[in-house]
Amino acid sequence: MNRFFLSEDNIEKKVVRFPPDVSHQILHVLRLDEGDRVRVLDNLGVIYLVSLQVYHDQKKVWGQIMESGPAPGEPDTRISLCFGLSNRDKVEWILQKATEVGVVSFFPFISSRTLVQSTSLSEKKRQRWERIIREAAEQSGRGRLPELQPPRDLSKCLQAVRDTHSRLLAAWEGAGSLEKYNLASQLTGRVESLALFVGPEGGFSEDEVLTLRDFGCQVVSLGERILRMETAAIIFPALVLHRLGEL
Ligand code: SAH
Repeated sequence: MNRFFLSEDNIEKKVVRFPPDVSHQILHVLRLDEGDRVRVLDNLGVIYLVSLQVYHDQKKVWGQIMESGPAPGEPDTRISLCFGLSNRDKVEWILQKATEVGVVSFFPFISSRTLVQSTSLSEKKRQRWERIIREAAEQSGRGRLPELQPPRDLSKCLQAVRDTHSRLLAAWEGAGSLEKYNLASQLTGRVESLALFVGPEGGFSEDEVLTLRDFGCQVVSLGERILRMETAAIIFPALVLHRLGEL
């Protein structure tokens, strides 16, 4: 069943109003019609089952609320993914897949070896990336839209996550199979929120590994094989959620 995020203003007690762009998508892209059912998410953690009411002459779509309840797609553990800013395709892939996995916020960072060295992000690109996140969140049935943070230098990124997350973990390709870097043994007890760091194509420099540690980041291994950054960016949150019983 198709799912759409709508803002609170469009959701009333018994009905929802679809804005023009979503109405267009419903009628002309998905070719749904009167009486078809879709799910609406309010981005506050509630999901609604609605039956469509179509006003073809006005090109408007409304929905009658049939039932509502808590959206099941949100993990209890909040995971932020901090990743080295890369080229467009890779970033888009990471945003889409990590949203499906359950990441709640994205912190792109610039480090000495990132492909991109500027923290500026055009408005057009930001909007495109937010649209990719929204579509992935709708497709996968998330209860809340993951948030896209502006790109920052690595140390600014560390400052931004340090006080707002209970644990910081960095995947380091140099960790190998040493027991002290074992992901499972680092993740014991209850964890409310984690910031996960994945380095760029060229990896983290030794200085950066020291900086990560200075900020209280624990270094972990993702195994003996070196993964591409975009692979690491997906399996890292997936392994963490699995370990915490949320996947
Ligand atoms: N160019 C580097 C690899 C960088 S991989 C080299 O050849 O050694 C990009 C990022 O993915 C790394 O910085 C790290 O964060 C993560 N990563 C990839 N494989 C990993 C592994 N086996 N363990 C931990 N992190 C890994």
